[in-house]
Amino acid sequence: MSTAAPALGHAQPWPYTLAYGHERKLEADVLVIGGGIAGVWAAISAARCGARVVILEKAATERSGAGGAGVDHWQWAADNPASAVGPEQFSQALIDNQGGYRNGISTYIQCASAYETLLEMERYGGKVRDTDDEFAGADFRDPASRLLFAYDYVGRSVVRVWGHNFKPLLREECRRLGVRVFDRVAVTALLTEGGQPGAAVVGACGVHTRSGATVVVRAKATVLAANRPQRIWTFSSELRGISTFRPPSCSGTGYAIAWRAGAEFTMMEKSMRSPFGSAYAFPPYGSGNAINTWYPCTIVDANGKEVPWVDAWGRPLATLAERTRPAEGQSFFIMGGGSSSQPHPGLVQYLGPRPTPDLDARMRRGEFTPPFYADLAGMPDHERRAIWGVMVGNEGKTRIPVMRSYTEAGFDPDRDMLQSYDFLRGQGMREPVLPQERTFGEQGVCGGLLVDWDLMSNLPGLFGAGDGLFGGQDHSHAATTGRYAGARAALFARERALMPVDRAQLEREQQRIYAPLSADANGPDWKELNAAIARVMQNYCSEPKNAELLGLAERWLVDLQETEAPRTAAANPHQLMRVLEVDDILCCARMIVAACQARRASSAVLHFERLDYPQMDPPEWHKWLVIRRQGDEVQVSDRPIAFWGDFESHYRPRHASNLAAFAG
Ligand SMILES: Cc1cc2nc3c(=O)[nH]c(=O)nc-3n(C[C@H](O)[C@H](O)[C@H](O)COP(=O)(O)OP(=O)(O)OC[C@H]3O[C@@H](n4cnc5c(N)ncnc54)[C@H](O)[C@@H]3O)c2cc1C
Repeated sequence: MSTAAPALGHAQPWPYTLAYGHERKLEADVLVIGGGIAGVWAAISAARCGARVVILEKAATERSGAGGAGVDHWQWAADNPASAVGPEQFSQALIDNQGGYRNGISTYIQCASAYETLLEMERYGGKVRDTDDEFAGADFRDPASRLLFAYDYVGRSVVRVWGHNFKPLLREECRRLGVRVFDRVAVTALLTEGGQPGAAVVGACGVHTRSGATVVVRAKATVLAANRPQRIWTFSSELRGISTFRPPSCSGTGYAIAWRAGAEFTMMEKSMRSPFGSAYAFPPYGSGNAINTWYPCTIVDANGKEVPWVDAWGRPLATLAERTRPAEGQSFFIMGGGSSSQPHPGLVQYLGPRPTPDLDARMRRGEFTPPFYADLAGMPDHERRAIWGVMVGNEGKTRIPVMRSYTEAGFDPDRDMLQSYDFLRGQGMREPVLPQERTFGEQGVCGGLLVDWDLMSNLPGLFGAGDGLFGGQDHSHAATTGRYAGARAALFARERALMPVDRAQLEREQQRIYAPLSADANGPDWKELNAAIARVMQNYCSEPKNAELLGLAERWLVDLQETEAPRTAAANPHQLMRVLEVDDILCCARMIVAACQARRASSAVLHFERLDYPQMDPPEWHKWLVIRRQGDEVQVSDRPIAFWGDFESHYRPRHASNLAAFAG
């Protein structure tokens, strides 16, 4: 009898019944791809308009997606009664703050309906106001509505919410409305009329990640809500999970399937250095800092000396109260806390207060002694309980790993300080990053699906919502655009018939889906392929870029696609999903390289440096570059920077017809 322990990685028998090749067929008025925040809101909206709705979700809708674990700040609710700034002014500020490269359509939908959407969330059971008067008398509380605000206590457009259970509540509402939710289905392709790229979308197909069966949905309208690509520049399965800020299920498949179907994308050339891409990152919001969830926490050095704060213009602030007020010369600010780096000149106007940006130099001169700490204990009671309570208790991925674990380990915010890693010269709460430790979409506003005022793409019947839209971001952006797109899709579906699936297209896709099952068992596995893609992007599509480097990036990615990807094997449906994801990451990397080749100018706001076109942001290049696949070629076009035109005249009639359809 052998006494040897099973080898590491010893294969366990697959616990589910396999059904490779089996086809499950479904029909819907509206199909939603991705049951994350945008997806569930789209499904609820479409169902409220009377549509028969199907959600296909790769993970489990109850908690899936970047917002599944929670949300603590509900951004840019410029439609709330206490907001000092209206939706038009706030949207324009957000756009200007990105040098024009922010989605005017979805940003306006967000600013004009975030509060209205929050009230709907409240009807579903979400806690959005201080009903127990825990914060009575606090500076950030509006006594009339009992809403709590974050960051700018004068502007009052960001609402603090108790969002840890919003996702399960929305899932429950889907159930109540009869939305059919199919979890563990990874969508792999959009199906188009006559199987032609560039034609109307008539449904989608995917693979069940436990049985391996194919799922085919015919639909009159489809809402794509599968978030963004990650793991393009950095990948490590060992250092920190699979080193992503967002959940691993967000792997860019939404981009890849729309690209293959002929959809237009824009701003794909933007990427930036980001700790969110670093395998060495700390758990988000799990170390002491002063930004975002932890705003406006006091930071002290090892001797208890307070780090001074400055306003947008760099003027020192004397009191804690000034950290939450616009500076002289500002009527409101967008977000404070900032990083230790200097903001881009020209984007200062909306900058909030932050710890002094010259902390590094002053530490080196001996004025401050590392390490630094977030001094929760030194904060006024209301502020402390708002940070270590409402915020850390409800922020995505913090309720259990940070709040509960630290508390169980003995951390007491009334007494203890939490160490900050600012002294490592990273960004606020995080750590230093190299130029090649870039992210495309883990953080911030990034490129994505180009849509019109119906949130419809150039492919008739394909709508988009959430973080996968070009130039948009945030939980409330996903909620509001999902809510809006679901209604637009339902109204569109009323005028359409179900179209047949093109059998040849489906069979080609099934061949593609199942190919890794019979690939060379000695070939690379999905992790090696992902690491190879990341290395190509680090080497040839980092900082700085030129035509030669980008040509090499393209060549190596094509080489990986032609030689290594077909050899990447899967032994079960889970691995199959992983291999298909990496195939899509490869597709996204190629989209990014194509967009980088197309922009022949450098741009500070796009974090885009071309050695061969060094002039920064020349006016003739201040425009959206749009890419689209045509056969084996990439077609490039452009749009003026504010191509969406006037906000209200486009938004208001559509919004009114959405509300009327809900009522009916
Ligand atoms: C840790 C963390 C904290 C955050 N905190 C805040 C906050 O406090 N406030 C704020 O405004 N924003 C916050 N955000 C951002 C916010 O969560 C996102 O903006 C929002 O979730 C985006 O919604 P979405 O629907 O576009 O994507 P998601 O919510 O990620 O949903 C996408 C869904 O698509 C599914 N999917 C992907 N591919 C496929 C496929 N091929 N087939 C089927 N399904 C697929 C995924 O599994 C996922 O469920 C946070 C994000 C993170 C990661």
